[in-house]
Amino acid sequence: MLNTVNQFFNRAADHLELNEQLREILLTPNRVVKVDIVTDSDAGGLHHHQGYRVQHNAARGPMKGGLRYHPSMDEEHAASLASLMTWKTAVVDVPYGGAKGGINCDPAKLSEAELYRITTTFVELIKEIIGPTIDIPAPDVNTNPKIMGWIMDTYSKFYGFSPGVVTGKPVDLFGSLGRDEATGRGVMSVLEECLKADGRTLDDVTVAIQGFGNVGSHAARLLADRGARIVAVSDISGGVSNEAGLDVPALLVWVKEHGVVRGFPEADPIEGDAVLTSKADVLIPAALEEAITEANAHAVQAHIIVEAANGPLTTGAHDILINRGVTVIPDILANAGGVTVSYFEWSQNTQHYRWEEARVVEELQKVMRKAYDSVAELAARDGIDHRRAAYVLAIKRVARASASRRSISQHLPPRLLD
Ligand code: NAD
Repeated sequence: MLNTVNQFFNRAADHLELNEQLREILLTPNRVVKVDIVTDSDAGGLHHHQGYRVQHNAARGPMKGGLRYHPSMDEEHAASLASLMTWKTAVVDVPYGGAKGGINCDPAKLSEAELYRITTTFVELIKEIIGPTIDIPAPDVNTNPKIMGWIMDTYSKFYGFSPGVVTGKPVDLFGSLGRDEATGRGVMSVLEECLKADGRTLDDVTVAIQGFGNVGSHAARLLADRGARIVAVSDISGGVSNEAGLDVPALLVWVKEHGVVRGFPEADPIEGDAVLTSKADVLIPAALEEAITEANAHAVQAHIIVEAANGPLTTGAHDILINRGVTVIPDILANAGGVTVSYFEWSQNTQHYRWEEARVVEELQKVMRKAYDSVAELAARDGIDHRRAAYVLAIKRVARASASRRSISQHLPPRLLD
């Protein structure tokens, strides 16, 4: 995954004619922290996990990025996702740098009490390097508002009332209205903008979605509300499809009761991966990395891919799809709705003020549309794909901010300054 992010970065860096040293500076994380988390298990034994926080770049503001609890979490994984956050916050132009972290654990095998002890111990071990003006975590895979609330509470025990230390908190605990659905809503906004360029609207399209967690389920609900036909969805349990369109509200009730999409009536069961190659105009990968590789890219039928997940395409898969004329809206643009509303939440927290939900929705849409249009315009101007254009835009913003902080503008190539 780190290789993939670096390759995408380097393609944009080639376009900008960045020299090796600048590339190295921009790709190297500011700080990498690994901690040992030892806690009591419910059974009376000990749990031992590794926690990570990689702080990639702080040129444009405090670092920002989610916490992922997953057996695959390690330093390299956190580093690649942290780098993505640096470019993502720059693409949507929110005043943050990038970070990411998490714990190498399987939450499905932990009780809530165990998860609480692991989380609070992790915060005690990293408390000196996070904070509202330093690094602000948020939810990611297998973490949620409840866990963000525990983080705020633990941090506040050491530093006083600090709602701005973490975003994605419960609304009762200074979370923002609209944060939970923000990434899904941002996905909808960029898709809408992309279709608009072809004179189309959401009710013209069929959509397949891989992953039915926070991002996938909200995207499905919002898109179906706006008239899109959701024809296939999957999660870790498998998938379901219905050519006439799945009844998304009923599917949400089913998942709430059963925990997974499998078994949903009024739909045909499909193998989990089949969702990626199912017949649909739009494909939204909203699960984990590298879902589409050289092995299955040829079989993808959609002509628009909106990367709701981080890193769902390998570079090889990306090239195959672009050569086939598929439009790929890259992760650093497509899923930036979450960090954008996190920024709104943090702004509300630092001002001790609460926005109405309508304001959150309106401002999010404004940010996402502007970011999409800037990327699409640059792509058209320079004859490059959307991903390269998004990285070009982001690298310019980060490099210029770094240079302005240190009076080193003379080291920047002219293409960074146009
Ligand atoms: P989540 O834990 O809420 O949901 C993940 C979903 O993916 C679940 O439905 C799970 O069953 C499914 N899944 C896992 N492995 C799968 C597989 N092999 N096949 C099919 N489905 C599978 O996580 P989330 O917060 O929805 O995050 C999903 C993706 O979106 C991640 O890549 C994350 O980094 C990215 N993202 C999340 C946010 C956010 O605000 N939560 C913001 C930006 C990006």
